[in-house]
Amino acid sequence: MDIAALNSTKSLRKDVLRGMCLCFGFLSVGFAGFNLTVNNFPLLGYIEICFSIYCIFTYISLIRRPLQFWQSLIMCVLITLIVILGTSLASPRNGVFVWSFALPILYYLLLGKQYGVIFSANLLVIQVFILGSKSTLAPFETFNLSLNLLCAYLSIWAISHVFEGSRSHFSKRLKNLALLDPLTGAGNRLSMNHYFEVELQDKSQLYLFLLDLDFFKQINDEHGHGVGDQVLIEVATLLRVVLGRGYVFRVGGEEFALFSSFANEEAALNTAEQIRARFENTTFDIDGLAINVTTSIGVAKFKSTNSLESFVNQADKQLYKAKQFGRNKVYCKFKKEHDYETVVA
Ligand code: GH3
Ligand code: MG
Ligand code: MG
Repeated sequence: MDIAALNSTKSLRKDVLRGMCLCFGFLSVGFAGFNLTVNNFPLLGYIEICFSIYCIFTYISLIRRPLQFWQSLIMCVLITLIVILGTSLASPRNGVFVWSFALPILYYLLLGKQYGVIFSANLLVIQVFILGSKSTLAPFETFNLSLNLLCAYLSIWAISHVFEGSRSHFSKRLKNLALLDPLTGAGNRLSMNHYFEVELQDKSQLYLFLLDLDFFKQINDEHGHGVGDQVLIEVATLLRVVLGRGYVFRVGGEEFALFSSFANEEAALNTAEQIRARFENTTFDIDGLAINVTTSIGVAKFKSTNSLESFVNQADKQLYKAKQFGRNKVYCKFKKEHDYETVVA
């Protein structure tokens, strides 16, 4: 499964910005011609030509490259400045200010909720100030018209706010559903693949701890599957706490993969041993039952030739040894001058 498909926000914003570039790119050429010839607003006209060139340039760059946040930000700033400049230059009768009503929608779609609030509020204040300081108040002499326009702007702003809020909320929920293990909240295999292949840039000091709980089946057999589930939730929480910085993934029933970077092999081994000892010394309280569980850990250090699969296999071999030679142990095999095996506990 392609994880990029889950990033609906980015593809939505890219589509909106491309559509906007195309639409405003052509529209502003038309407006520029009008402002340079009929309206006699040369400054606005030249700015609109530059804006139009920028729109086409952005449109073309978005065909090949992913959207960058600054591209959306610049687009919103530019369109806002043009609308504000047009409002201050032209008479209110020309109706340039009407474009203000479309902008909150664009702010929210392109920049999200936080920027949506800031931009929409600032635009309202600036436009009210500009229109209020015009020498002629026409067509705003009637209180009703001003009130209606204000309410329309506020309504569009509020709807955009609610829409973007619920859209991003559902987008996050969908992503969590696809990437997190529903029982423990740890990442699943899909997110582990994505983390390893895409997010992790520097793998030079990367270590993998593969954990398998010891005799977990007995816990299920003695106390029931529900208690076993509760233990798995506690285990995932404990792993996140003990590992600190790093990522925890549930890769099997009671198997977890932990990725983290360490300065050297000793530091990695110490942390693995701390995790093992923490389990040994922790008693989980599950509905009044005191449950102890130990864990075996296989440790692997990343090599430049490693794929995720071979990296996991490497750790799995060590985990197998930890199980074979007694459980509740940390096994690793780091390459130094000679191959050697380190066994802790
Ligand atoms: P060991 O690893 O030390 O060899 O012994 P084990 O008893 O842990 O053996 P193994 O790893 O093969 O068995 C894993 C058990 O974990 C089998 C299954 O009952 C249990 N299990 C797997 N997934 C879940 C789950 O989601 N919830 C619960 N409650 N149990 C699970
Ligand atoms: Mg097990
Ligand atoms: Mg297992």
